Amino acid sequence: MSAMVSRQQQWRLKAYDTIPKAMQIAVRIYEDEYFYWHPGVNPISMIKALRLNFKSGRIVRGASTLPMQVIRMRRIGSARTIIHKIYESLAAIKYSLLRSKESVMKDWLEIAPFGGNTIGVYAASLRYFKRDISKLSWAEIALLAVMPNDPARANLTSGQESLLEKRNFLLKKLAIKGFIPMGDLDAYLAETLPTQTYKLPQHSYHLLDFLSKMEPEKTMYKTTIDGPLQLKINELVTLESEIYSRDGIKNLAAIVIDLTSNSLKTYIGNSQNSKGFSYVDIAQAPRSYGSLLKPFLYLHALENQHILPKQLLEDIPTHIGEFVPQNFDEKFRGAVEVEDIITQSLNVPAVRLLHKVGIDAFYHDIEKLKPTFLNKGAAHYGLSIILGGGESTLWDMCRLYKGLAHNYLGLRNPYGPVKITDSQGDEVKISISYDPAHVHELVEAMSFISRPREEKSWEVFGSNHKVAWKTGTSFGHRDAWSIGFNGRYLVGVWVGNEDGTATHDLMGIAKAAPIMFKIFNALPNNEWLPPPILSNRKHSVSVCRLTGLIASRICKDKEVRQVVRASLKLPNCGHCKIVNLDQDGNRITSLCKEPIFNTDTMMVMPPLVEYYFRQSHIDYKPLPKISQACFSSGKGIGIIYPTQDVKIFAPRTPSGQNLIIAHAHATDGGKVYWYIDGRFIQATGDKVTHSISLNLGIGRHVIYVVTDKGESDEVVFEILNKT
Ligand SMILES: [Zn+2]
Repeated sequence: MSAMVSRQQQWRLKAYDTIPKAMQIAVRIYEDEYFYWHPGVNPISMIKALRLNFKSGRIVRGASTLPMQVIRMRRIGSARTIIHKIYESLAAIKYSLLRSKESVMKDWLEIAPFGGNTIGVYAASLRYFKRDISKLSWAEIALLAVMPNDPARANLTSGQESLLEKRNFLLKKLAIKGFIPMGDLDAYLAETLPTQTYKLPQHSYHLLDFLSKMEPEKTMYKTTIDGPLQLKINELVTLESEIYSRDGIKNLAAIVIDLTSNSLKTYIGNSQNSKGFSYVDIAQAPRSYGSLLKPFLYLHALENQHILPKQLLEDIPTHIGEFVPQNFDEKFRGAVEVEDIITQSLNVPAVRLLHKVGIDAFYHDIEKLKPTFLNKGAAHYGLSIILGGGESTLWDMCRLYKGLAHNYLGLRNPYGPVKITDSQGDEVKISISYDPAHVHELVEAMSFISRPREEKSWEVFGSNHKVAWKTGTSFGHRDAWSIGFNGRYLVGVWVGNEDGTATHDLMGIAKAAPIMFKIFNALPNNEWLPPPILSNRKHSVSVCRLTGLIASRICKDKEVRQVVRASLKLPNCGHCKIVNLDQDGNRITSLCKEPIFNTDTMMVMPPLVEYYFRQSHIDYKPLPKISQACFSSGKGIGIIYPTQDVKIFAPRTPSGQNLIIAHAHATDGGKVYWYIDGRFIQATGDKVTHSISLNLGIGRHVIYVVTDKGESDEVVFEILNKT
């Protein structure tokens, strides 16, 4: 899949398979014919060589046996003197005695020089023929066998002639000795020599780089990568990256994990496009993860009985210390189901929930998951941890999400490491897992996230195309993430610029999710998760369908649900109230002396929640109007909120002001004039219900309203906020 040069800048591969017989024969016949007969040195050829060298006055012939050559190649730089020759001979004898002929041959083939920076027959075969040594012809084997004899001249361009001569000499010798059928010899002699050097494959450069940093002592890594799939996804990612690069988005990383075997199948640390190839492995780079921890907050809150599934959470202006969270669209929805933190990736209710469960308790969970780079302590991150206020890597986030799938399935050590190499065990224990019933609630929510526009037709494909997923977008649009899984695979995608450059549309849903779904579509045998294990949901609770809270006696619309634990910590629904109605269905307030004709149970939201809720819910049915009769007893106007002597913790606006929405009811439908603490603020009208928003400081305040007709009302209340 991939190779890189050694520290000495050489291409050298260790033997990774048995050496083909033909290769052994060719090397032996050319370099050391009596290899199997001598004890490391060959006395006959040594005497021949000495005589020849003596005659010519210089060393012209080596007489080196293969063991001697191995010893010499290992002592690079030593001089070729008689003393060294004697040392080499003695060392070769010792070496031959201790090792089998087979392993001497293997050593030689691994370290013999093949010209340039190519070392060993394995690298040479790939560099010169782009093939494994097991797939070479006799002519090709013969060429490789003769190259180490004079590596300085083993050059495919300048040394063609002498290489061809040596190769043919060997081929003929092999034929004479009966290793090659005489009839085939001419065909082998006619084979031309290669003229170029091939590059070694780089289909998973970043993974090799990652592994070599993890286990630097190793020189070969047998990974769990699916070769054809890696090439296919590489191609897909390259194509997408090319398109993105036109919009100034230069980098993309993608990971595919097989959930059945918990092993890595595809790893693209950084995309390639016509703008070039980057050596930076983005999948291992610490980046802001946006909303990707929200599923874990949901699980934490369920697990620790802070919430029930489908419970309403407030989505109103929020100001906690200096922290003012905003939703992606800077709007508030009043009240949302807790799952909307996942499905709509809402920030405000997520921060409010985190504030409620406590950052320390939540961080304690996160710590147990051992996320890379996210280890600086709860105080360092504060509430922003849930909005990507820290950093982690795509690789590690994929592990956490893989954990969700394994946790759902009830597997052991669900958040443990993903296998990359076949030798690696999953000895690292991650000491946390959630109740599968809670993970089931989460996975259900995650599978109903609205998909990117081009994915709208997924439902017609059936369950093979169902995916539980979540996106992430970092603050300032620097990182777009999407991680999803089905019953078979997990796919994680990161899109952005490695130098951190932002682009306005760099968002998880817009940029990362479409690629994640394209990868899912390219995977074979997609299937959805099996039905969840429900046996541990032993307790029945009666839940108010309107608020998702434990039903009170007043709640009308109730439902019995099976839960993991009887949720004793949870409060009863306090939002359902009994409303008194007159004959016409109008509301009768407690101040009013009118006879009660009927009562009904209705959900009454706090005024601020209702204020935002009705803006975002056009079908919202507010409480019935207050009966005219309540105002007819001399009072044509009434302040509904705040009520007399109420003490309020006012919510904060994004700009840090205390926000109070005051409501008044005027029977004649005319103008109402508002005074706060004796000062005129504004006039509202012409309608029956009036409201104004007020920015008020801490302490007691007086609201005074007066109509055109001079009718008035007044309440005194107090704002308690500290800062
Ligand atoms: Zn209720």
